[in-house]
Amino acid sequence: MTTLFIADLHLDDSRPHITELFERYLASDDVRRADALYILGDLVEAWIGDDDDAELPRRIAHASRALRDSGVPVYFMVGNRDFILGEDFAARAGFTLLDDGTVHNLYGRPTLLMHGDVLCTDDVAYQTVRKQVRTPEWKANIMAMPLAARRAFAAKARQDSRAHTGSTMETIMDVNASAVAEAMRHAGVDRLIHGHTHRPAVHDLTLDGKPAERIVLGDWYEHGSVLKVTPEGSRLEGLS
Ligand code: MN
Repeated sequence: MTTLFIADLHLDDSRPHITELFERYLASDDVRRADALYILGDLVEAWIGDDDDAELPRRIAHASRALRDSGVPVYFMVGNRDFILGEDFAARAGFTLLDDGTVHNLYGRPTLLMHGDVLCTDDVAYQTVRKQVRTPEWKANIMAMPLAARRAFAAKARQDSRAHTGSTMETIMDVNASAVAEAMRHAGVDRLIHGHTHRPAVHDLTLDGKPAERIVLGDWYEHGSVLKVTPEGSRLEGLS
């Protein structure tokens, strides 16, 4: 009895070994025997639309669909890199889409699931941009562009971000403690699982006088990272 959580794989043509690791992992006995696989956002470095006919989305859909067809549910929540991923691709990949902030009962324990970016409230500039781009109008404008133009747009954004940070790694502000407490209180849970910050850890905290837990998933920039949740507890493990 194990449920698996991954996030922030940032799959990209520039890291083919990570794409291969993802495919290998989804086909592994560990995953094929799991109760479910959850992907909590930023599966890819950039998502330009469900109509993208490139090789990477095809490989992702193939790997995920094979897992789903083997009887393992695959839950997917969008992150800030792939928030325009929608029903079309989900159907191809066999994903069950989850809203950010969904509560799932894992072996009797209600658990709040988030990508994590909405918890980073100290980054005011980011939250402003987030509001602007998460509208049906913004998505419609992007999707009205030809595929080639969207591809060029994504490549340019990636280049700019690399020139800015000097590497492919992104530095992200951490979560705000009050935002975490508020989200957990609102959901009525004592366990939260999220990604986004690339700071994998299990944090024990006190919420309204009671013990609670915030688990942060690791990114896949250099190697894989998975959270295994069982009826007994949970642990983070590296993958290579
Ligand atoms: Mn993210």
